[in-house]
Amino acid sequence: GATLGILGGGQLGQMFSLAALRLGYRVLVLDPDPHCPAAAVASRHLCADYDDPAALAELARSCAAVSTEFENVPATALELLARHLPVRPSPNAVAMVQDRILEKRFLRDLDLATAPFAAIHAEDDLHAAWRSVGGPAILKRARFGYDGKGQAGVDDGKALASAWAAMGRAPAVLEARIALRQELSVVLARGEDGMMAFYPVAENIHRNGILDLSIVPARSPEDLRQEARRMAARIATALDYVGTMAVEYFVDETGRLLVNEIAPRPHNSGHFTIDACVQSQFDQQVRALCGLPLGDTRLLSPVIMMNLLGDLWADGEPDWSALFRHPQLKLHLYGKAEGRPGRKMGHVHALAADSAQAMAVLEALRADWGWPKS
Ligand code: ATP
Ligand code: MG
Ligand code: MG
Repeated sequence: GATLGILGGGQLGQMFSLAALRLGYRVLVLDPDPHCPAAAVASRHLCADYDDPAALAELARSCAAVSTEFENVPATALELLARHLPVRPSPNAVAMVQDRILEKRFLRDLDLATAPFAAIHAEDDLHAAWRSVGGPAILKRARFGYDGKGQAGVDDGKALASAWAAMGRAPAVLEARIALRQELSVVLARGEDGMMAFYPVAENIHRNGILDLSIVPARSPEDLRQEARRMAARIATALDYVGTMAVEYFVDETGRLLVNEIAPRPHNSGHFTIDACVQSQFDQQVRALCGLPLGDTRLLSPVIMMNLLGDLWADGEPDWSALFRHPQLKLHLYGKAEGRPGRKMGHVHALAADSAQAMAVLEALRADWGWPKS
């Protein structure tokens, strides 16, 4: 089989590699971390920076097509590769989504609702931003944030000024803090022919800005789920997107859908597709990348995904026997050595006849582990 390239060797790159290998491809992963999770499974690991000219030349020479596992790769590296081979998603799509200011403006131009926001480039913008957003807000770095990092809650103009200074005065977005009824996400795949396949909508529960649980199917009305899929389809089409992508939503207290952000890659809230759908989000990424027909996204069982964070490793390895006692649980570990707090180490899928039963199993496991502590 041909060789596929992937920029980024974290867990998403690892799960992409596993899917690609299963489908008969070799995988070349580029990641500067010698111990990155994908290195353990990929055919070859180029241990270099994402903009390293020799590494990019090697990718261009060896690969039939290249994809990426995260939005923070330099768009210039993707552009360089795109001169030689198919890069999916396109450098343009990634460049737009990796900057919250461009992303929010793109959504506004599409007439898709977001939380009220204002861009901050310079000291002079702070006052106007605070006045236009008003009330409790969240300051978010425009670039390089994930898992709630690079964000600060602000409750008045003074707090805004000091939070922005603490961020090194980097470009940022001030966003109104929404009273959340629910959070949802849509994972979809779009082929080069423009055909789209949608996974069932996930209901996402975050703790401390990090995804904790994804419940599928989401416990929300069908018309709302339909609307979420329609909005995601408009985004994918406007980006002429090829590959797997996700759209995160807030449902505000009036029941209205607001787009939170776009992920130009498979998404943590789509991991459930590995065990609960006919084809996984990573299968779809490989298929779209290679110009193959998209697969069936059908849900085979209700499922809840629970992230395993490094906090669980505080006193050494978690007690896995507590997990293996539950036959409905499927464990996915990424092979990361160091369990730092908040670090995604793996996840668990609970498959059961309905969400309530899946939740009961996960709660029993949490009780065994005494986790989370609060
Ligand atoms: P990731 O890319 O890992 O999903 P991120 O760092 O880009 O995370 P966001 O998605 O912006 O972070 O925010 C993380 C979580 O914080 C949200 O899912 C939500 O729970 C909460 N949050 C963020 N922005 C708002 C807001 N404007 N109002 C209310 N809650 C918010
Ligand atoms: Mg994000
Ligand atoms: Mg997010």
